[in-house]
Amino acid sequence: MKLVLPPAPPVTIPVRSGGLFPVRQIYCVGRNYAEHAREMGGDPGREPPFFFMKPAWSVLPSGAVLAYPPATADLQPEVELVVALGAGGRDIPEAEANACIFGYAVGLDMTRRDLQQVAKTQGRPWDLAKGFAGAAPIGALTTVQDGGVLATGRIGLRVNGALRQSGDLDQMIWTVPQIIAALSRMVALGPGDLVFTGTPAGVAPVVPGDRLEASIAGLEPLAVRIA
Ligand code: MN
Repeated sequence: MKLVLPPAPPVTIPVRSGGLFPVRQIYCVGRNYAEHAREMGGDPGREPPFFFMKPAWSVLPSGAVLAYPPATADLQPEVELVVALGAGGRDIPEAEANACIFGYAVGLDMTRRDLQQVAKTQGRPWDLAKGFAGAAPIGALTTVQDGGVLATGRIGLRVNGALRQSGDLDQMIWTVPQIIAALSRMVALGPGDLVFTGTPAGVAPVVPGDRLEASIAGLEPLAVRIA
């Protein structure tokens, strides 16, 4: 059957060693660093990992300008390790999860915090607090083949040159294999899926004109300007 509308072009992320990674779904884990869980009013270490999603069309490449989104007065970046899957499946055992990873990138989980707070207090979905144009800036992917499996390393965010967020990947409450295993018990993961793995403490608003530089040891840094 003929398509009745032209299909949307695929969303892609550049791979450092060449080529483009096609994005399928974007999953995100909430509260995965103890200090951040506390600053958000949570109780770290007690609850199992929980997930939300961002639309693939919210991906923004490094070096781009992020237009300050509508309907918010409290836009906040969260620097996160993004895991890109080259394989998937259901009920992936923790011990086999790393074998599903294609590579890693630095990402920013941009959040309309005021909308999220309303959603939390009203028991409403987070979707539009986390999903909007430019809500998922992501840097170039480094493949596992080139950089190995990541479990430790500095993660940080600078705003206008000043250090805003700082931590280490080894501070995650749920490790990347645990996250992949847990997520695969809820949905069938597939090649092209991205997983944002949570942010260290220090989240705060940004305003138009701000320069964001996100970094993780061993990965291509991510730079975004708010306009
Ligand atoms: Mn986040």
